Amino acid sequence: MTNPETVRVAVGASPIDDAAGLPYVDAVSYLEEQVMPILSARSVTKTYRSGMLEVQALRGVDLDVEVGEFVIVMGPSGNGKTTLLNCLSGLDEIDEGKVEIEGLPIHELTDRKRTAHRARSMGFVFQGYNLIPVLSAVENVELPLLVNDVSPRTARVKAAEMLDRVGLGERVDHRPNELSGGEQTRVTIARALVAEPAIVWADEPTGNLDSETAASVLDLLREVNTRGQTIVMVTHEGDITDMADRLVLIRDGQVEFDGEPARAPRRLEAV
Ligand code: ADP
Ligand code: MG
Repeated sequence: MTNPETVRVAVGASPIDDAAGLPYVDAVSYLEEQVMPILSARSVTKTYRSGMLEVQALRGVDLDVEVGEFVIVMGPSGNGKTTLLNCLSGLDEIDEGKVEIEGLPIHELTDRKRTAHRARSMGFVFQGYNLIPVLSAVENVELPLLVNDVSPRTARVKAAEMLDRVGLGERVDHRPNELSGGEQTRVTIARALVAEPAIVWADEPTGNLDSETAASVLDLLREVNTRGQTIVMVTHEGDITDMADRLVLIRDGQVEFDGEPARAPRRLEAV
């Protein structure tokens, strides 16, 4: 167990209790066998109902993601990718199935515990995942640090540094409505990454960015990933799948393909 992330995952899960009574050497090997994926989803279903209309957005999704993986999710528009991220991360409820993140059943937690788990372990790069309008860019970005008990002074410095990394060093005091759509997305990205969460969820993070900014955002995600943080990213840009360890293709609310990007079906290119 040389990877500190692995230890963190094990500590967050129950096997440590089972290992507690074992001699040290046995406990270590027991834990090594028991290390869980950072994300484990089983038979997840989600149906949206509005009036007479029912949309089966997820139809039994199984997915395991290991610590430190970079997973790209692709699929045609309207086939459930955003729903999948919302459901896996616990932002949205599921109808059936089970999702565990760092060993915790996210949908079975109380609201408070779920929120705490999210604040401690997750970062979100979602379009329209609201920035707080009355706060400046730097105040928005420092929130995840303040929630995690980082001192205000350190939080301010880190938030400003992160804004600088996404090219917004000159915009720290602007409020969201004083920023363009692309700039707001970059604030969201800075906010998602600043607390170095174990898992980063990104839904088409480069969708409304110019190609240069998009490239720097992808670089940032790649760098974050090389530090051991796990990334699950929806994109429709087929030419960037090589940066991922795994490609998951969603079609009609189901996993159609899950494997190395190079082995994906050719028709993916048409997605
Ligand atoms: P994608 O991200 O792949 O484009 P979504 O997950 O956003 O797809 O949507 C999957 C399906 O669920 C679509 O048919 C969409 O219209 C429907 N849907 C998404 N969100 C809602 C909602 N809040 N209420 C009702 N239907 C929804
Ligand atoms: Mg979507």
